[in-house]
Amino acid sequence: MGKLFGLIGHPVSHSMSPSMHNDAFRNLDVDHHYQAFDVKEEDLEAAISGIRALGIKGFNVTIPHKVNVMKFLDEVEEEAKLIGAVNTVVNKDGKLIGYNTDGEGYLQSLLKVTGQELQQMKTLIIGAGGAARAVFTVLSKYGVSELDIANRTNEKAAILASECNCGQADVEVLSIEEAGERLNEYDLIINTTSVGMSPHTDHLPIHLKNLKKAAVVSDLIYNPLKTKLLLEAEGKGATILNGVGMFVEQGALAFEKWTGVAPDRHEMENIVLKQLGGF
Ligand code: NAP
Repeated sequence: MGKLFGLIGHPVSHSMSPSMHNDAFRNLDVDHHYQAFDVKEEDLEAAISGIRALGIKGFNVTIPHKVNVMKFLDEVEEEAKLIGAVNTVVNKDGKLIGYNTDGEGYLQSLLKVTGQELQQMKTLIIGAGGAARAVFTVLSKYGVSELDIANRTNEKAAILASECNCGQADVEVLSIEEAGERLNEYDLIINTTSVGMSPHTDHLPIHLKNLKKAAVVSDLIYNPLKTKLLLEAEGKGATILNGVGMFVEQGALAFEKWTGVAPDRHEMENIVLKQLGGF
């Protein structure tokens, strides 16, 4: 009999995860199904009880439940604890175990652009929310030696730097303005804020006037596929990376945890790009 998987969040109607996972199930020739469930904040505990009662085998968690869901799980894996958020849950014989595949998903997509040089690249992360925590944690763990952070709210960046530096990274916390002035120091600049996301596509998280040509500029946003930040960076000769690869990888890693099988990432990416109008 097919097994049920899903996504909980609010809102979820535009999520690309159902088509991505259902297509991967079809390719495996199994009768599993992935369903998006719109769950309001006040209904989270009841939703988790429902998942247990119905024997749903695994699920993704998205905004606004990534942090609050942790208290309703039986176990949370070490990296997810460090990040402070869960985006993937596995139901192992009735025990709900939480993971975070956002960070590792981002790292895998980034390595395709930077290769092994990543460790030596002086890096600036803009933002200090959940996605920034995931990215900072995996990059410091990977061994990126200089990892600075700038955020609108400075205190949040300072807390992130003290809680998520699990490697030996040399870290400086900067204001957005300072980081902009010193942008020519950075080989890799990563926007983890929502600034520039549709419909506010004319917004920039940082000014690029001091960007060096050889830099890599990465934006976690995938809608639009090229944010203003990426368009300007590309215009200045930088290498750019959008959030599609991260989205696909975090989903593929979740799929592997649920099924033990690696899905076809290219097929997943095609489905996502089709939904985003990228073809
Ligand atoms: P979050 O926890 O709410 O954090 C939002 C971040 O954006 C904070 O640093 C916040 O700064 C900053 N921010 C928001 N509005 C701003 C503004 N007007 N000016 C300056 N800074 C602003 O959200 P999140 O979960 O980290 O997600 C952030 C982005 O990453 C979203 O665009 C999301 O779509 C994207 N994302 C992509 C993937 C993927 O698979 N590609 C996965 C996860 C997230 P303050 O701290 O000052 O509020």
